[in-house]
Amino acid sequence: MKPIKVLRKPIKCQKCGKKTVVKILYGMPSPESWERYENGKLIIGGCCITQDSPEWGCTHCQTEYKKKK
Ligand SMILES: [Zn+2]
Repeated sequence: MKPIKVLRKPIKCQKCGKKTVVKILYGMPSPESWERYENGKLIIGGCCITQDSPEWGCTHCQTEYKKKK
């Protein structure tokens, strides 16, 4: 699935309309990050970040968002 290009972090998800768009964290998550992840405040994106990696994602429908350059 290709990420949707946006100018800034969407308040509401463009697909499902829910306010569940959160930041995607790359790299090794800290214990605090895990806590936020478990609370649905963060997505763990894995260790590999590329130019095409999305910045934000919806925890409800998994739609991904990438910042427009
Ligand atoms: Zn959504």
